[in-house]
Amino acid sequence: MPRNLIDAAPSRRALAHMPDRRGRFRLRDLARACGVAALAALAAPALAGEPPPGFARLSDIAPGVAQQMRYAGSNNFTGAPVPGYRAAQCWLRLDAARALAAAQAEARAKGFDLVVYDCYRPRRAVAAFVDWSKNDDEKTKPAYYPNVEKRELFAQGYIAEQSGHSTGLAVDLGVKGWDFGTPFDFFDRRSWTGALKRGVARLNRARLVALMRRHGFDNYPREWWHFTLRGAKNVESRDVEIE
Ligand SMILES: [Zn+2]
Repeated sequence: MPRNLIDAAPSRRALAHMPDRRGRFRLRDLARACGVAALAALAAPALAGEPPPGFARLSDIAPGVAQQMRYAGSNNFTGAPVPGYRAAQCWLRLDAARALAAAQAEARAKGFDLVVYDCYRPRRAVAAFVDWSKNDDEKTKPAYYPNVEKRELFAQGYIAEQSGHSTGLAVDLGVKGWDFGTPFDFFDRRSWTGALKRGVARLNRARLVALMRRHGFDNYPREWWHFTLRGAKNVESRDVEIE
C-alpha cells in the first residue's frame, strides 16, 4: 500500500494492537495492554521510532488536525518518497504542537479543520532536496515550478538548505476544503502570501495567517502554507527519522 494513502490507513486505536511495518509490536502498547503502567512509563523514552525528547506526535496532541504528509509518499515536488520519512506522521516540538492544537480548537469552533502537509523534517530530507535540485530530472516541473528554473529554487527562497522544519518548530498547512489559489509547494510568485489582489483565495490566506498569528505562528511571506512558532528557545535541528 502506498504510504500516503492516509484515508485508507487503520486508526491509531487499531494500530495500537497491530505490529508496525517492521513487524514489531510497540513495547509501550504491549505494556498498556497488559495493564503494566509502570513498565509503560519506563519503556517509552527508550523506544526506537518515537519522537525525540521534547517532541510529540501531532496525532496525540491535536487529533482533529488532518495529516497529508506529502514527503512520505511520491506526491511531492521530488516525485518520490523523501529520505527520513519512514511513516506519514506529523512530529513537532511539544510547544509547537500545543500551539497548533489551540489553533485547531479555534478553527473547529468556527466550523473548519486544519490539514498539515509537513512538520518536523529530518536534516537528511533537507540534504535530499539539495541533491534533487542538482539532478536533471524535471518531471515534476509542470505541476510544482512551471515558471522557475529548478536550479533557482534555493536562490529564490522556495527551498532552504537549512530548514526551520528540522527544529520541529515549523509547519506547512492549509484548511480542509478551502481554496488558497495555489496548491501546497507550488513554487511560484502566486504562492507568495500577499500575491493575490482579490477573490476568495486572498481572503482565505488572510484568515489562515490571522488564525495562526493568534496562536503564536508567523507566516513565511513567500509560501502561504509555511508557519513558524514565534519566540521559541533551543532551536536545535535534528536528524531523527520519522517512524
Ligand atoms: Zn515549510
